[in-house]
Amino acid sequence: MTELKHYFAPTSLDQAVECLKDGDVTILAGGTDLTPQSQAGRIRIKRTLMNIRHIPQLSGITLEGREIRIGTLATITEIMEHPLVRQHLPVLVEACNHFASDQIRNAATLGGNICNASPAGDTLIPLLLLDARVELASMPEAKLYRHSMPLATFFVGPGKTRRSLCELLTCVRIPLPGEGHVAHFHKLGTRPALDISTISIGIGGTLREGVLTNVRVAFGAGGTGARGAEARCRHHRQGRRHRPRRGRTDRRRARHRLVSQGNDP
Ligand SMILES: Cc1cc2nc3c(=O)[nH]c(=O)nc-3n(C[C@H](O)[C@H](O)[C@H](O)COP(=O)(O)OP(=O)(O)OC[C@H]3O[C@@H](n4cnc5c(N)ncnc54)[C@H](O)[C@@H]3O)c2cc1C
Repeated sequence: MTELKHYFAPTSLDQAVECLKDGDVTILAGGTDLTPQSQAGRIRIKRTLMNIRHIPQLSGITLEGREIRIGTLATITEIMEHPLVRQHLPVLVEACNHFASDQIRNAATLGGNICNASPAGDTLIPLLLLDARVELASMPEAKLYRHSMPLATFFVGPGKTRRSLCELLTCVRIPLPGEGHVAHFHKLGTRPALDISTISIGIGGTLREGVLTNVRVAFGAGGTGARGAEARCRHHRQGRRHRPRRGRTDRRRARHRLVSQGNDP
């Protein structure tokens, strides 16, 4: 069902966040989640449909100091072909390589993958491993206001994030990985690359003299109600299994570990 009355295609960030003040707006980026979800009746398109694809401030992949900024509108194809990403964030390229077909990759945006918050979202795994932060913009008064938070705290459940209705995701910021950083992504699905994952896993850490430390594991799942979770252990020798404590769900345990080890600012 839809209550759509207006279509709006802003050409600046100010126009977009001004429009979001209304609270009754559906944001459209590549439309590869939104279109099938609204056709299947799983979501309701609100009174205003706002197409953000003509806002230059939301595009681009750049090096800013010691971090890589990826605009929310960067498509999966742009990300996997960009020299900065290929040089510094190969695990993100690996995940993009497993992402759908060429047609979907050409339209699907990074921001859409994050805001859809599916536990099967392929880019979420490497971004969690890489300590990415998301930047959000809003206009509470007459002025543009931006704030950021770690991706690890952005998600509150499958399909749910901390983004408020009047906020727009503008970009993702990823610190340049330190020396010796290694990370890998693996995805299992019924038809690899053309289907959502059944389960995906990413492992990262610092490799020095054959010993892997600062190990971080992130995993996600789609399909049968399985849930994504992440976990981290500080000193983890290569080949030794990380055994999480019993007694909590994976998700709660994972959040506990991230917070208790000072991952949040
Ligand atoms: C055939 C097919 C195969 C697919 N395969 C995969 C796959 O292998 N791996 C995978 O991870 N995904 C897959 N997907 C899902 C989808 O392509 C991705 O999640 C994609 O990244 C969504 O991006 P989009 O730009 O199309 O988002 P949209 O559909 O435009 O938006 C998705 C959601 O995010 C919101 N949104 C978008 N941008 C912003 C923003 N800047 N600020 C706030 N909210 C925003 C929208 O309002 C909407 O709720 C597949 C989809 C299809 C149809």
